[in-house]
Amino acid sequence: MKTYYDAGFDIGGTQVKYGVIDPEGRLVFKSKVRSPEDIDDFLAALEEAWISLKAKSPGAIRSCGFGVAGFYSLKQKKVIQSPNYPALDGYPLVPAFRRFIDVPFRIGNDANMAAFGEYKHGAGRGVRSLVLLTVGTGIGSGIILDGKLWEGEGGYAGELGHITVNPEGDPCPCGGRGCLETEASAPRLVKNYRSLTGETNVADARDVYLLAKSGDAAALKSFKRCAYYLGIGLGIVINLLNPEKILIGGGVVSAGKLLLGPAIEEARRRSHRVSFAGCRIEKAALGNDAGLVGAAAWARLKKRGRG
Ligand SMILES: [Zn+2]
Repeated sequence: MKTYYDAGFDIGGTQVKYGVIDPEGRLVFKSKVRSPEDIDDFLAALEEAWISLKAKSPGAIRSCGFGVAGFYSLKQKKVIQSPNYPALDGYPLVPAFRRFIDVPFRIGNDANMAAFGEYKHGAGRGVRSLVLLTVGTGIGSGIILDGKLWEGEGGYAGELGHITVNPEGDPCPCGGRGCLETEASAPRLVKNYRSLTGETNVADARDVYLLAKSGDAAALKSFKRCAYYLGIGLGIVINLLNPEKILIGGGVVSAGKLLLGPAIEEARRRSHRVSFAGCRIEKAALGNDAGLVGAAAWARLKKRGRG
């Protein structure tokens, strides 16, 4: 019997990751390229990636999915705004992709694709409702409800990084203030440490992590503050959706108990007991591959007419 494969692209402001999955969701090929700043260079890089991906695939590719960073409008079929990849803003991607992608394809938001990837082939397998929260430089998320990706009316659902958790918090590039992303992401950890100590010798979250591991009081406090707000966010998700699982991905997962432990404890205090008890909060499984695996799986779903 002939085996078919599906391709996925995860398009971010720094890198474009791409790969091919087999019917079981295993990556049989993956690669990446630095994101060009110019839209024409971007399209040329994508076409080149598509050609090499088809050449490297062990069999025919029947569909292709794209997860793009930013607000992708399901109605207008273009990126309305991409804070991390401005070249994509307003560009009609569909006709541009159609020029060289010679299989049915589908475009969605990158964080939504990552959630779908975890749901189909990662830590969310067999779960009916889940939320993926990716905590790193920013906070991205996607929601699966009753076995379906919840994209919202326009495609903009799942922006948990921009729910207000601290009304008096710092301004956020989204126009809000005290968003979960400004209060609990990796840059915040560094900011917390600097404001507590006046030290500017910590470069990134890893430095704060190492200091905390060695027992540094200010570093521990920096984690505690981020965990507090992350816990408020988790509590909101639990009370609003009563999900079966919340998966946490991104760089901060490696901080383990320093962040997730107290965050989960805060969520427990702030959510309904029965809802909290029914929700498993676990680490995501696919890491940086979640977006491209999810995009490929999501495109495949449409191809079969089940989505
Ligand atoms: Zn925001």
